[in-house]
Amino acid sequence: MDVSLAKTDKRWLGGLWLLVSVAAICSLTLPHAFLLRALGDSIQCILLLSFIVSASLNLRDQDRRAKRFWMLILVSAVLWASAQLLWTHCEVFLRRDVPNPFFGDIILFLHLVPFMGAMAIRPDIDRAAQTARLGSLDFLLLFFWWLYLYFFLVTPWQYVVPDARVYGVNFDTVYFSEHLVLLTAVWSVWRRSSGQWRRIYSEFFAAAGLYACASIAAGVAIDFGVYYTGSFYDMPLLASMVLFTRASLVSRRLGEREPSKAESKTQSWIAAMAMAVAASLPLLAIWAVFFSSAPAKVGSFRLLLTLAGIVCIGGLRSWKQYALDEELDRANQELREASLTDVLTGARNRRFLATTIDNDVRLVLRAYSSAQCEQKNRNRDLIFYLVDIDHFKAINDAFGHDQGDDFLVQIVARLSSAIRYSDVLIRWGGEEFLVLSRLTNREEAEILASRVLHAVGTEPFRLANGKAIRRTCSIGWAVFPWSTASPEGLGYSEILRLADQALYQAKDSGRNRAVGLLALEGSRIPSRSAPNDQEVRSDPRICRVVTLGPGESEQVDAFVQSI
Ligand code: GH3
Ligand code: MG
Ligand code: MG
Repeated sequence: MDVSLAKTDKRWLGGLWLLVSVAAICSLTLPHAFLLRALGDSIQCILLLSFIVSASLNLRDQDRRAKRFWMLILVSAVLWASAQLLWTHCEVFLRRDVPNPFFGDIILFLHLVPFMGAMAIRPDIDRAAQTARLGSLDFLLLFFWWLYLYFFLVTPWQYVVPDARVYGVNFDTVYFSEHLVLLTAVWSVWRRSSGQWRRIYSEFFAAAGLYACASIAAGVAIDFGVYYTGSFYDMPLLASMVLFTRASLVSRRLGEREPSKAESKTQSWIAAMAMAVAASLPLLAIWAVFFSSAPAKVGSFRLLLTLAGIVCIGGLRSWKQYALDEELDRANQELREASLTDVLTGARNRRFLATTIDNDVRLVLRAYSSAQCEQKNRNRDLIFYLVDIDHFKAINDAFGHDQGDDFLVQIVARLSSAIRYSDVLIRWGGEEFLVLSRLTNREEAEILASRVLHAVGTEPFRLANGKAIRRTCSIGWAVFPWSTASPEGLGYSEILRLADQALYQAKDSGRNRAVGLLALEGSRIPSRSAPNDQEVRSDPRICRVVTLGPGESEQVDAFVQSI
């Protein structure tokens, strides 16, 4: 079993076991007096400090959820040590017997809740961070519930109608139930886990099991008045403290722990518990009012407590609902994004065009239908650029499909850098892309075409295998609306067909060039002088074919046949 413990850890644990042996010998040899109590308390404090230190060592070099796990274990250890310090304070510094009921009992009781929370985190399973956040809300809900249960069953006999006997029985009952729940939780996560984490859970199961038995034994001994600090009743408790340190040390030595991808049911189990918790409050109140034989003062206290509990738990449930709605929104958004994005390149896909194009077309038509806009808004065209990589297949043939994929990713980066934020880049097919340029002007269409030719063709690409290669692209473009005089004449799919024809022309006439098709509308668009940009106008690769009047489908078809 000790295979994963380093020498220093073994020495550490050896020292702790030595302390336990000293405590055992003293419990049998020393009289029930101050010295034995002070020794017993000091040893417990040292063992708990050792647990705190060993648990905190696990906070380093861990992923986020494993850190949360150890954080909760640490909180649990610190609360446990605080209860022990209160006990020690009474016995050693004040030199008094610890009162029964003991005011530190609530800390002792609550310290198991973060432990349960740690088990619910299940760091051995890979889960989204948001889900973990929801889990912590459930945890808070359970924490409130345990707190409520303690106030409901135990506190009335401590402060409202003090009664040490009922207090003792009730405390032991809830504490025992809590230990049982914790043990069940550790056992269930151990059963479902695998690998390194299974080992950690098994160590915690052993420690928690012994701790449960020791606590119950000590609790019963206190109720029967035979317990004193340093007595033999403490020995199982001391041993369990050593086992907790051991669990933390083993965990630290186990090294990298890969979370498994397996699905977990723990989260839904906790959510169901959280629901049951909320429902249990009114039932407990009904029991307190109608069926309990407790004094009236206790009944009123419990009723008030339940009302406060319902407010708190109701608030937490609303908060959780809000968080759930947010998470659902986010998940939907992510799914939507994924369904509109090309997996390989991260560019948009054809589905994106299908879902957005109607809106784009509507905006263009509205801009053209408003007479006022005519003067003010010149940027109301929608230009379809089809961009196809020249001789791309040769890359696949020469370097393999993977290098081809890598090249496509780089192409998308270059195309994205050449277009505006408001434009959309769509992977149209294998190595063909559609750039949809919105809110633009047909007279400046060549500027973007030139930028794309430049972005792709100027610098060589460096493939993942280290090879540098040059590639160019060909572009065909057409504008929606085809005719500004009758914007509804041709639909966007016909414009796409025209852009495709223009792309064929660009390929046919030697590649590494852009060809655009435009309707000739009287004298409004002079044929070759369209590009305003001097540099673009002088680029021999840029060609604008101006053709036809306000087009009918057949006319366009006839034109397309002719080019
Ligand atoms: P052209 O200049 O005429 O466009 O020649 P080309 O080689 O670029 O065009 P062609 O249509 O002959 O070949 C396109 C190739 O793109 C064929 C296909 O195997 C490859 N391809 C399509 N999709 C992918 C992809 O996702 N990854 C890779 N690596 N290759 C792809
Ligand atoms: Mg190609
Ligand atoms: Mg192609």
